[in-house]
Amino acid sequence: MEVVNLRCRFGGVDALKDVSFSIPPETITTIIGPNGAGKSTLLGCISGEYVPKKGRIFLDGREITGLKSWKVSDLGVARTFQLPRAIFHLSAFDNVYLPIFASSKGFGSRRAAAELAREILSRCGLENKAEVLAKELSTAEIRKMELARALGLRPKLLLLDEPLGGLSPTEVDESLKLISELCKEGLTIVAVEHVVRAALEVADSVIFLSNGVLVGEGEPRELLSREDIVELYLGGRFVRRGQL
Ligand code: ADP
Ligand code: MG
Repeated sequence: MEVVNLRCRFGGVDALKDVSFSIPPETITTIIGPNGAGKSTLLGCISGEYVPKKGRIFLDGREITGLKSWKVSDLGVARTFQLPRAIFHLSAFDNVYLPIFASSKGFGSRRAAAELAREILSRCGLENKAEVLAKELSTAEIRKMELARALGLRPKLLLLDEPLGGLSPTEVDESLKLISELCKEGLTIVAVEHVVRAALEVADSVIFLSNGVLVGEGEPRELLSREDIVELYLGGRFVRRGQL
């Protein structure tokens, strides 16, 4: 995937300012940076939720800039959200099954779609929760269900917005293991993270955004030892604490 000079504006404010980078297939990239840096906006531009004011986005060499989100999804991009967008009065199974069934990729039959949904739920560690209503699931289970829903669309590129948010250290480990396995099986993964450990443990590469600007990108350990980056990151945290 490639992003060239991407600019996204809300009202009078540029949430992304000429951001450019490229991501090789079958790798894990984490996007980190202080609150309000533009991380979620970047995922939203790639997934077709937002139309950028300027710049271009390519997937496998094909331009996808400004395409509707359903079209981007058809081309192999699935995403999860920072605030999960589940249908809370339906079961975990239905939350995963319905998008599979509704997708235009053609699953042959309801039965094939249901089998795929069960297989993916089990892959995500939810085999015993399939019939539980989404509103009764724990935070970790909802994150797993979100991931399962995205995987049901059989993407090539998976965009995850803070998939570790609200998880315990053990749950973080489990989730990182699954993300690594999915990448080894051929998925390209871009994950917004606030857990720096995630970047260090599983990412091939890190992109650091601050105030809409791509400040640096590269090998995780190298990038996270850069003094300017540490300062921006810690600075952001102090601001956040100060606001609470
Ligand atoms: P991050 O995910 O890095 O915390 P966001 O991408 O959510 O940051 O936000 C970047 C900036 O864009 C912030 O200043 C935020 O207030 C603004 N912003 C994000 N989404 C919207 C929106 N839908 N409408 C207006 N402003 C937005
Ligand atoms: Mg965000």
